[in-house]
Amino acid sequence: MLDSALTADVPLGPFEGAPMTVHSSKGKTTKLHAAKTCPQLRARDIATASVPLNVETIGRMCSRCAQWGAWSRPGTGLGVFLRALGGVGLLYQLQCHTGPDEDTDWDEPEVLAAAKLLCEPEADIDDDQEEEEEDGEGREAERLQDCVFSAWKRAATSLHQAQATAAMFPWLADWAEPKLAVKIQYLETLRAQAALFVDTEGLRAAAAAELLGEPELPSSDPAFTAVGSHDEITRSLKTLWREWQEEAASGWGRPSERTYISSHLTHGMRPNRKGYAQARAGVDELVASWEELAQIAAKAADPVPQRLVTVRLSEVVEDPSYRHERGFLHDLDDWTTGVLLTHLTAADWGRRTLTLKVPALVADRLLASHPSGLTCEAGTAGPETPTGAEAGASSQHVRPGIFDDTPVYDRQPLAADHLRALRAVSADRDQLYLVFSVGAGTEVLPLTTVEKRLAAEWQGTILASASDLPVSVVEAWVREIGRRPEDGESIWSAPVHDPHDPRFGADLGLADGDRATAWLRHGGESVEYDLRCLAMARGAADLRTLDDSRDREERRRTVPIAVWHGLLATTRHLDLRPFKAPGTDRWHGGSGIPLGVLAEVQVYTTDAKPGWNRRGHSAFCSHSGERGLSADDDLLTIADLLSRDGFDWCSKCHGFAVRRFTDSQVSYYRAAHRLHAVVKRLDRDGGATGGTNGESLAAELSELSEWHPIGETYWDSPDSWRWTEIIRDLRHRLANGHGTR
Ligand SMILES: [Zn+2]
Ligand SMILES: [Zn+2]
Repeated sequence: MLDSALTADVPLGPFEGAPMTVHSSKGKTTKLHAAKTCPQLRARDIATASVPLNVETIGRMCSRCAQWGAWSRPGTGLGVFLRALGGVGLLYQLQCHTGPDEDTDWDEPEVLAAAKLLCEPEADIDDDQEEEEEDGEGREAERLQDCVFSAWKRAATSLHQAQATAAMFPWLADWAEPKLAVKIQYLETLRAQAALFVDTEGLRAAAAAELLGEPELPSSDPAFTAVGSHDEITRSLKTLWREWQEEAASGWGRPSERTYISSHLTHGMRPNRKGYAQARAGVDELVASWEELAQIAAKAADPVPQRLVTVRLSEVVEDPSYRHERGFLHDLDDWTTGVLLTHLTAADWGRRTLTLKVPALVADRLLASHPSGLTCEAGTAGPETPTGAEAGASSQHVRPGIFDDTPVYDRQPLAADHLRALRAVSADRDQLYLVFSVGAGTEVLPLTTVEKRLAAEWQGTILASASDLPVSVVEAWVREIGRRPEDGESIWSAPVHDPHDPRFGADLGLADGDRATAWLRHGGESVEYDLRCLAMARGAADLRTLDDSRDREERRRTVPIAVWHGLLATTRHLDLRPFKAPGTDRWHGGSGIPLGVLAEVQVYTTDAKPGWNRRGHSAFCSHSGERGLSADDDLLTIADLLSRDGFDWCSKCHGFAVRRFTDSQVSYYRAAHRLHAVVKRLDRDGGATGGTNGESLAAELSELSEWHPIGETYWDSPDSWRWTEIIRDLRHRLANGHGTR
């Protein structure tokens, strides 16, 4: 591994003097560490201090922490800057792919010889041994070609990453320039070596083959009778044409390398079968005629490269589930790679924009067939220079005060460039952010939504990300929830039907949600991450606004399913009978208890529109992909559930999930069920409620009459009047010794 630690020569720009927390053993000159857990910090007494980032501090950094240490939280400006430099970031990239190394230990004559061997037409071979030797040499030459190509791609990716990172922090420009120049020069050496393997004439012939329209296919030619019926012949010839065209267009290979394709037509036929020989001869002749069409078209076109095409590569994708990088140069087909290698005239690797000067035929193919992995447009000049707007935007670089590293009072407006820088260093997953704008006040939003708003000229600032939430509050909370016990206690508590049980209704409450989120996550570290996400998400007025899945499907969703379980409760045990109107059936009817603090509880479903012939599902139903909420789900309230008919709910999931009840709401839900039980009791027992039974019911009623929201001294709302009236009526019935209404 190269030594690419942060050194004192790196310009710190606006982060010069920024405060950072360091750990060290006691003493004035001991090494400074980013974490107490650094293996090179072995002292028992560890001192923690805040020091300014400057030359002196960098000089005292432990070498391990200077490259790999997390000196600041990743969501702060300083954290973004140092992460962009450290690890395998800018400092590392500037040092690698600067010249030949152990992976690129070939020399120029070797490359020349290999390229010559692969590009020259094969000589007639008349000796078996010679053939074997030639094969061995050929394989070796192909291996070298692969190595040179992949070295060029890796060096280009590294240059792209270095240039793009340096551009995010403009004060690095003068310092980085000579180092980038070395990389640019070495990349050009590799490109020139790789280009030796590419036959430009072959590229033109391939372009011609791709642009050919399907010729008339000789389905009625008696030579093909042995293939089958007229329809079968037509089908086979069409397939053959597609295979040939794909193969002929795929690189710069010679026609002799794809003669094998003609054998596909007679594949499966016995060679001694009648008509086999004619079919073989016919198909050889046919394929040769297609080759000739391509050659004629290629020869008729101007071979001189004079058309400009601007090519934009896709982003580098570093997905841990893929062992290799994707995107950028890595997914291009051979033909496109060959064109880039041989016709590149200017490159802005940082912005992934290349300018090619190509023959007309190649330009036509690039513009007509849109090779996958890049976008092409006809160019007129050299590489794009940043336009006024872009140049202005690039001055919106990351500095202190954008993210959570200064007092909120001094916070600076957010710009798209800041989020790009943030994404570049924290590609793994996005967080929820608390943002502020004068138009909408404070809101909890996923980054993709903030990005969309910025594109629409939104002006606002970031107040905090989920990982910025105060550790003093979060840590105590995480400790209190605790880990899932080893004995595998179920996350979902058993149903409780007795409203006097202190657990009654708790499965709908916040505390059970906390536990579900914590226990659903098995990995140790991410539990706190998820709980922070949960705490942040609870501030969202409408939980659907937290969904970001539709725009960035390739990324992990910001709100994981474990967190959705902390936000929403399944409604298997939700019982709304107490709130229903008293029916004619006195045993099963409701008690007409007001919904009170439950009326506005949010209800989320995939579908609440009547008459759509689609059932509503909850966010956790397998029918909705157990995906949590989506932006186009429907939002109702519990009051809507009671006041409207005609919902069509899935029988498996009960159709919807409710936003978890606050403690007051759980308490009221419990009280309402107890009151409902009293009503049912009086309805059922009639006059037989005297004596001790009567006394305990009276005591219960007076306890229930005292109900008020937690944290308030009394309950004052239109519903509280109705609640009192019901209790008064029940007391009256109890006192008169008759249960009937
Ligand atoms: Zn260290
Ligand atoms: Zn369902």
